Amino acid sequence: MKQVVIIGGGIVGATIAYELSQNSQLSITLIDREAPAQASTGAALGLLMGIISQKNKGRDWQLREASMRRYPQLLAEITQQTGDQIPQVQGLLHLCFSQQEKDQAEKLAALRCSQGWNLEIWEVPQLQTHCPYIETANLTGAIYSPQDFQVHPKALTNTLIKASQQNGASCRWGVEATNVSANGNRNGRHCRILHTNQGDWETDYLIVAAGLGSFPLTRQLQHPLTLSPVLGQAMRVRLDKNLKTSEFQPVVTGDDIHVIPLGNGEYWVGATVEFPDEQGNVKAEKHLLDGVWEKAIAFCPPLAQGEIVETWSGKRPRPEGQAAPVIEYLEGYDNVILATGHYRNGVLLAPGTAEAVKQLMSH
Ligand SMILES: Cc1cc2nc3c(=O)[nH]c(=O)nc-3n(C[C@H](O)[C@H](O)[C@H](O)COP(=O)(O)OP(=O)(O)OC[C@H]3O[C@@H](n4cnc5c(N)ncnc54)[C@H](O)[C@@H]3O)c2cc1C
Repeated sequence: MKQVVIIGGGIVGATIAYELSQNSQLSITLIDREAPAQASTGAALGLLMGIISQKNKGRDWQLREASMRRYPQLLAEITQQTGDQIPQVQGLLHLCFSQQEKDQAEKLAALRCSQGWNLEIWEVPQLQTHCPYIETANLTGAIYSPQDFQVHPKALTNTLIKASQQNGASCRWGVEATNVSANGNRNGRHCRILHTNQGDWETDYLIVAAGLGSFPLTRQLQHPLTLSPVLGQAMRVRLDKNLKTSEFQPVVTGDDIHVIPLGNGEYWVGATVEFPDEQGNVKAEKHLLDGVWEKAIAFCPPLAQGEIVETWSGKRPRPEGQAAPVIEYLEGYDNVILATGHYRNGVLLAPGTAEAVKQLMSH
C-alpha cells in the first residue's frame, strides 16, 4: 500500500482524504495542527458559485465544472454512508444593478445553456413576484441559478472526515508538520519522511493542503509558495421570522454581498474582502463589516429589523504571482503535491481539486 499523508484538515484536505480513501491501494493519513475545519474553512459561507461564475474557459472553468458535476453525488454518498445531514440551500439569485450586468448575465445564460447547465434571466416583475422582500428600485433584473447552492462548510468538512475514517483513513489532530527528509539530488527529490511535532510519518506521497500554513512549509522545503492572507468578515443575523413568503428561498447575492438563509429566521450575511499591508498584516476593520450590512439592507430592507447575533472573520489563502488555486507538484520534488491557495473559492473547488490531485498521482 502506498502511504499518502495529507497536511491540512480544512475543506480541501478533507475532500482529498475522502476521495483517495476509496482507493484500497492507498493508506491515507490526514493531519492538522488544530482541530479540523477551523482556519479559513471555519469562516467560510459555503457558497458554490459555479454555474453563475463568469469564468468560462480554461482551467478556471474546468475546475468549477468538475466540482459542480461531482458535488451532488459526493453529498449523496457521504450522507448515505455516515447518516449525517449537511445543511444546504439550493439555488442562487444574483441581482443585476446595471444594464451592462444584465447583458453579461444574458450572454452567460446562453453559454451555460450550450454547456448543458441552466440559468434563468428574470425581469424585475418576476423578481418582485418570487422575492417580494427584495428592493428592486435600483435593479435591472436578476439571474437565477437553480443548480448552484450553498453548503455548510464545517458540517461538510466534518462529514467528509468521518466518511474517510470509515473508509480506513487515519485522521490525527494537534499534529504540526514541520519538515521532511528527502532522497535525491537537485534534479529530483523524493520526500521519504514527514517530520511533525508528534513524530515521523513515512510517505510515498505528501499532499500539502495546509491553506496559509502551506507557505512556511514550502519555504522549509526550499521552494516557497507565497500566499497572502485576505481577510473576510461575516455575520449571523436573527429576524422574528423568515423573509420568505413561500418555500422558495435561495441565496441572494448582490454587489458582492451574500445573504444566506439558515432557517428559523436566521441568515448569514457577508463577506468583506480586506487585503494585507506590505508586511502581510491584516486586521478586521469594523467599518468594512458595517458597509456589508448597509449594502445588504439596501437590497433586502427587512434585514434592518434583525439583530446581529454573531460576527467572525477568517483569512483566505491567496497565491501571490500566480492564479488561485495552486494544484501541482512542488518544484524539485517528485512526490510532494500542492493543493492550496484557493482564495475565495475553496469550498466550491474542493471536489475538482481532489480530482486534479488524483490525476497528478496517476502520472
Ligand atoms: C469570510 C469568508 C467567506 C468565505 N466564503 C466562501 C464561500 O462562500 N465559498 C467558497 O468556496 N469559499 C469561501 N471562502 C474561502 C474558503 O474559506 C477557502 O478557500 C477554503 O476554506 C480554503 O480551504 P483549505 O482547506 O485550503 O484551507 P484551511 O481551511 O485554511 O485549512 C488548512 C488547514 O491546514 C492546517 N495547517 C496549516 N499548517 C499546518 C501544518 N504545518 N501542519 C499541520 N496542519 C497545518 C490548518 O490548521 C488548517 O486547518 C471564504 C473565506 C472567508 C474567510
